[in-house]
Amino acid sequence: MDLDEFRRSLDDWLDQNEHDLRADPAAKDTLDDQMAQLAKVKRLTYEAGFMRRGWPERVGGLGGSSLLRAYLGEALTSRGLVEPGIYSLTEVLAPTMIDYARPELAATMVPRLLRGDETWCQGFSEPGTGSNLASLSCRATRTEDGWSVTGQKVWTSLAQYADRCVLLTRTGDADSAHRGITALFVDMDSPGIVVRPIETMHGAPEFSEVFFDGVVVPFERTLGEEGQGWSVAMDLLPYERSTALWHRAAYLQQRLGSLLQAAPPGELEPADVGEVAQLLYALRARSRSTQRRLAAGERLGPETSIDKVLVATAEQAVFDLVADGLATGVAVGDDPASERWRREFLYSRAATIYGGTAEIQRNIIARRLLDLGSDR
Ligand SMILES: Cc1cc2nc3c(=O)[nH]c(=O)nc-3n(C[C@H](O)[C@H](O)[C@H](O)COP(=O)(O)OP(=O)(O)OC[C@H]3O[C@@H](n4cnc5c(N)ncnc54)[C@H](O)[C@@H]3O)c2cc1C
Repeated sequence: MDLDEFRRSLDDWLDQNEHDLRADPAAKDTLDDQMAQLAKVKRLTYEAGFMRRGWPERVGGLGGSSLLRAYLGEALTSRGLVEPGIYSLTEVLAPTMIDYARPELAATMVPRLLRGDETWCQGFSEPGTGSNLASLSCRATRTEDGWSVTGQKVWTSLAQYADRCVLLTRTGDADSAHRGITALFVDMDSPGIVVRPIETMHGAPEFSEVFFDGVVVPFERTLGEEGQGWSVAMDLLPYERSTALWHRAAYLQQRLGSLLQAAPPGELEPADVGEVAQLLYALRARSRSTQRRLAAGERLGPETSIDKVLVATAEQAVFDLVADGLATGVAVGDDPASERWRREFLYSRAATIYGGTAEIQRNIIARRLLDLGSDR
């Protein structure tokens, strides 16, 4: 199926099934509500075949270009059917499983994620190890029963909902840096795991601390080979900055449109609106070419840091404009629409942190793309 055909049939189907796909009007739009809504939309789109397009047949997909996935996420986020941040984890974690898990494991697990039966999380950051990921210390040691994992992760999005975790562990000695890292696919109900949610400033327990104490992980759950975890991480991060960002751009475009309708006449400076529209346009143009390169089978790399800088800049600009145009509502409004705008404004501050901070992205652009000096 080509993109135009997919687009037409998906749009028709979404129009016809709008009622079943919409969130329960009684729901309060809490994180629990958003997770339940995501699971429902994934199940319905999977059963109708749309969620399976663009994924390989060996993991339950129906094949076809990754552009189909880009359009599905665009349609779902811009119609407000799913929250883009929680939807994006599928685009980040499923390709990594497909590339690095043993084929039988990927074939069993990926359909569960696509169908919305399961949630997965990404256990990379640790206290003291965010930007400097190669210094992570959560340790996995070999035992007769498999890996034994002990250590701590932090800022793990959706860990309290997650059935599985793509976890980076240290298997080499303490000084082995990026050479001594191994990626594991861990069942979150394994004995020895404790998840403690942390509330963000926008008022949702979106991420957690996760503690591992002698957690046994079978060797066949190793992603790639022992010591190859750095490659897993470096291949995963570009996914975090490709299709998922196309979806986020669609959501931002939709929220800008809603702002223009909601702002009282004269509240927004036309020049400010124009500037934000330009930033969004630049983001979409850049992300469009990234989607095309991904679909053509190119391996994505550090150049996706440009996409991440653009999305963070555009997101904060959109919500700065919201804070200008709907100032009272954002500051003190207690109706559901104002509460949503306030939540989104606060969340937009995190756009320069998650997925690698703005400073780190600019370092990558300067050093690896523009050759403006080495890392040391
Ligand atoms: C909403 C949200 C969701 C997240 N979800 C996840 C998740 O699911 N899984 C996960 O593993 N992590 C997640 N994170 C964590 C995120 O990846 C880290 O916060 C991020 O990588 C930064 O690491 P840090 O917080 O340790 O900050 P640090 O690395 O300590 O950085 C602190 C400050 O110093 C700056 N800095 C650090 N090093 C340099 C340098 N070399 N040059 C210039 N400036 C530098 C940074 O830019 C930043 O401003 C999430 C974070 C947020 C906000």
